[in-house]
Amino acid sequence: MQAQEELVRRRLVHKSPNGKKRVFSSSHCLSNIVYCGECGELYRRIHWYNRGKKSIVWRCISRLETTSANVSCHNRTVPESRLEQVLVKAINRTICDKDDFLAVLQKNIETVLSHGNDRALADIEKRLKELQAELLKLAASNTDYEKVGNEIYRLRDEKQKALMESANRNEVKKRIADMGAFLRDQPTEITEYDESLVRRLIEKVTVYEDKFVVEFKSGVKVDVDE
Ligand SMILES: [Zn+2]
Repeated sequence: MQAQEELVRRRLVHKSPNGKKRVFSSSHCLSNIVYCGECGELYRRIHWYNRGKKSIVWRCISRLETTSANVSCHNRTVPESRLEQVLVKAINRTICDKDDFLAVLQKNIETVLSHGNDRALADIEKRLKELQAELLKLAASNTDYEKVGNEIYRLRDEKQKALMESANRNEVKKRIADMGAFLRDQPTEITEYDESLVRRLIEKVTVYEDKFVVEFKSGVKVDVDE
């Protein structure tokens, strides 16, 4: 399931601030999650050759595409090793302050639950059944049933929306619960960068001049200062 979600996430199209649509197929763990705090673009992974020395860095796409010069971004270039350290730091912060973070997660779960609309969905389904019965009756007696038909279409749309909202809520609940499970199971700080853990926990990293903001899939945020 986790892998499936990951695939869906990677197929998402990012709409740039300048209106360009970007689709990335890169399978690198940090692709599509590192964002520029200055212009809102994604960061892209680059192999850098400097005086015969190879290194891997991440740079804001606006800076790489000089042709799309409307966006003039000056945000910094970040070595990949630095990004990895930042993620280790952010994850360790949640492990160190486990109790505080678990309390935040509990609150987030309650917020998600309080936005439930399962009642609304049941009401829509009940009304749909009634209207369908009415439609049959009207059709059988050759009475005009256009109004009822339109109402049925409208309610079907509404039902679809309610179903999607409910699925989203379940997804968010799952993410929050997963982070809770991670925190409870992890006794000590992690000592090195762990790609699978990043895929599991991290939603987004935003690069600013003086800090990184790491957002977890569960909704909690951690600032890592320079
Ligand atoms: Zn930028």
